[in-house]
Amino acid sequence: MPTPVPRSSLPGPRAPRGRLDALYAEVQRRDPGEPEFHQAVREVLDSLGPSLARHPEFAEPGLMERVAEPERQIVFRVPWQDDSGTTRVNRGFRVEFSSTLGPYKGGLRFHPSVNLGIVKFLAFEQVLKNALTGLGLGGGKGGSDFDPRGRSEPEVMRFCQSFMTELHRHVGEHTDIPAGDIGVGGREIGFLFGQYRRITNRWEPGVLTGKGRDWGGSALRSQSTGYGNVLYAAHLLRTRGEELAGRRVVVSGSGNVAVHSIEKAQELGAHVLTASDSDGCVVDEKGIDVPLLREIKEVERGRISAYAERRGASARYLPGGRVWDVPADVALPSATQNELDAGAALALLRHGVRVVSEGANMPTTPEAIRILQGAGVAFGPGKAANAGGVVTSAFEMQQNAQRDTWSSAWVEERLALVMRTIHDTCAETAALHGAPGNHVLGANIAAFERLAAAMLAQGVV
Ligand code: NDP
Repeated sequence: MPTPVPRSSLPGPRAPRGRLDALYAEVQRRDPGEPEFHQAVREVLDSLGPSLARHPEFAEPGLMERVAEPERQIVFRVPWQDDSGTTRVNRGFRVEFSSTLGPYKGGLRFHPSVNLGIVKFLAFEQVLKNALTGLGLGGGKGGSDFDPRGRSEPEVMRFCQSFMTELHRHVGEHTDIPAGDIGVGGREIGFLFGQYRRITNRWEPGVLTGKGRDWGGSALRSQSTGYGNVLYAAHLLRTRGEELAGRRVVVSGSGNVAVHSIEKAQELGAHVLTASDSDGCVVDEKGIDVPLLREIKEVERGRISAYAERRGASARYLPGGRVWDVPADVALPSATQNELDAGAALALLRHGVRVVSEGANMPTTPEAIRILQGAGVAFGPGKAANAGGVVTSAFEMQQNAQRDTWSSAWVEERLALVMRTIHDTCAETAALHGAPGNHVLGANIAAFERLAAAMLAQGVV
């Protein structure tokens, strides 16, 4: 196993720390109890030293402070009735973080773990991710602590209607355009859109992305986060002179991003061995059977354990098991934040992993990133590698504005082009700042510089 190098010898010049440390301390003081937000801000601040050294104008007082402070945070009550007629009350959130580069754009998450800090970290990441795409998109994120698991479809519908009854005042095709995330797929987007249309009496498809294809949705929107991440991982491999075909791949999760990552990796000839949920993981030596996985997760809304029961001898279910313990060349964390920790990184290294590319948002802990990068693993950070979803959302907005429908082939061609550009931007920015191969630094600097330049041009707002 390669020996991890200490942090001080990692590639990339260190930041002139004073201002950045003071800002980080202020973020911690002002937003106590929001560790995920602190983590996301810290990672970005840690990358910016070389950029501020080249661009002293970005160190103008107040600019960095505005980058780390949302424009608006909305917290609201979501009352709804369950099937027994009992009134339930959840909490809804929308963090409209930055509209410098375009309308607020980012998904909604329905999961019991959702709180303001989680939504804020996701919104902050989204601002930078959207900047990196080069498209006209600001950043935001939202959601609720509602748990759709075990809820009937009428309950999910009533919840979505109540959620949109408040949210509709804050969103709009030129203002804020939500989409899906954990717990919010095509079904929920349909219920949300229906309620928006009813309340506003407007056919305004550009208000939400991830819609059904027959009513304003784009080809490949649901596939594009996973597909894009696999394309990113393939580019990372290629810079090492390797192809994805024939490689062993582990994927975590079994939701939208995971399923489509598995599908695309298999299409490109990789051997995908795993999928998981919050209860455990399956290992399938013959390769994951995507139609069976979709039937269980998307149609039946069942658990991953059912996959092993129905697949036969090639598959085994490991209750509480981790996909990181399965030998693989490539790992695609695609479930949730901080799922790949230092222990998982060391396990992946022991088995010879060469590429880790994040389908989920912030799935790798800072310590795990240091271990992987220190050992020479090519690492694709989520804000670059999983940008395919928001890119196709932007394509959906373009089609809605033009009252047009693009073919799957055209969407996929454009998606591939943007993913390639994002990869090359991260690689070139990292090299320019003395840290070749460090896509964390490259992504953070490239995104920050686009945002900061636009903020300077727009004045103190
Ligand atoms: P889904 O709801 O479709 O799937 C989520 C998957 O992750 C499920 O398998 C779920 O298992 C698992 N999971 C969720 N929370 C936890 C947890 N706390 N511990 C362990 N497993 C968990 O969501 P998506 O596939 O859409 O999203 C996955 C990740 O990708 C998220 O980080 C999201 O922010 C990110 N992402 C999604 C985009 C999109 O277009 N959908 C775009 C960019 C990023 P279980 O059923 O047991 O909860």
